[in-house]
Amino acid sequence: MTQQDRTVQGAGPRGQGDNLRVDGAALWHDLMDSARFGATPKGGIRRLALTEEDRQVREWFVSACEALGCAVSYDSMGNIFARRAGQDNILPPLAMGSHLDTQPTGGRFDGILGVLGGLAVLRSLNMAGHVTRHPVELVCWTNEEGSRFSPPMMCSGVFAGVFTEHEVLEKQDRAGQRFGDALQAIGYKGAEPCGQHPLTAYFELHIEQGPILEAEGHTIGIVRGIQGARWYEVTLRGREAHAGSTPMPMRHDALVAAAGMVLAVRHVAMQHAPLAVGTVGLVENRPNSSNVVPGEVFFTIDIRHPEDAVVVDMEKALMGDLERLAAENGVLLDVKRIWDAPAVPFDPACIEIVAHAADQLGYSAREIVSGPGHDAGYVARVAPTAMIFVPCKDGLSHNEEESILEEDAEKGANVLLSALLAADAHFSRGA
Ligand SMILES: [Zn+2]
Repeated sequence: MTQQDRTVQGAGPRGQGDNLRVDGAALWHDLMDSARFGATPKGGIRRLALTEEDRQVREWFVSACEALGCAVSYDSMGNIFARRAGQDNILPPLAMGSHLDTQPTGGRFDGILGVLGGLAVLRSLNMAGHVTRHPVELVCWTNEEGSRFSPPMMCSGVFAGVFTEHEVLEKQDRAGQRFGDALQAIGYKGAEPCGQHPLTAYFELHIEQGPILEAEGHTIGIVRGIQGARWYEVTLRGREAHAGSTPMPMRHDALVAAAGMVLAVRHVAMQHAPLAVGTVGLVENRPNSSNVVPGEVFFTIDIRHPEDAVVVDMEKALMGDLERLAAENGVLLDVKRIWDAPAVPFDPACIEIVAHAADQLGYSAREIVSGPGHDAGYVARVAPTAMIFVPCKDGLSHNEEESILEEDAEKGANVLLSALLAADAHFSRGA
């Protein structure tokens, strides 16, 4: 970025943009306060999408945004937009955000940091009386986790045209409740059709959810993109039989077949080291009785790699292994690929803006590719996008013990603020 850009960057009425910082103590207070909704005894959060806990945190969030003078609206998928007016309100907004839903045993920072970091940015702009040229919007995306309603990032997906509104509304949780009914029930089905909402650019602050930044002593991850991922649902059908009287060679044991497949998933990922990952995280064994040979097993597979071509190779190898293991164990195999997320490269200008912001603030930073998927991965299809990572303790996430340093939360939000102001200048050129 040139010196000239930096002059434009501070071009609010009071010209204070370059020196703005977030109030780290207020951000931390918000993070701890929001952790009340769905708090678990172990200090984590259980706040599944579209539950009562989700409704409560939304109400809390909307009040906080309104207290800062934002106009709050939500679209037909329940995505929340808190808008702070700019100098030129015809321009599509500069957006930042993430999600407030969690895994069943989730932590206090995954997603939440991005939303409340955005709140800290808005607060800082207000304190300084700094009016950006573009309007600024803070977005809370519905159902990022995909834990109750699969797949994840469902509503940023509708926003970006990846899924249709209809198919998402018809999704059911494992208890059979429709997504559309659950959304209606918490009162967040808005009038604006999802996706009719152009953005000038989008920045998402998030915890890394991996160990790299912490291990290398960096505070900021400049995220270049998101790796490709594919998810599968596998059902194995063998035959239930008495555990005492059925000779070993005569069994059709679905769980033994599944055990081999779990190891095959690990093996395929190891064959594509160091960047590939493969996981079986959900297993259901039926009838799950100590003296019955398991007759049916359902499990999921998740494979990822930064390059799409490698994901395709992994899938090919894996499917061969699954078929072989099913045949060896005399069970029927049914595999469905339920999610295919190609690798996402972020916008070069937005990546550069984040890198420059971290550098100007004097924070130690490195480039990184995101292992997990994020709402930003879908938003990147419809708006210039980048992400900012901060370390989490021991790389632990999707865990009640998920933990970050208060100073890292503050620094991440400072990068978000600086990036937003730089983007306001960058995207004003020619606007
Ligand atoms: Zn997240």
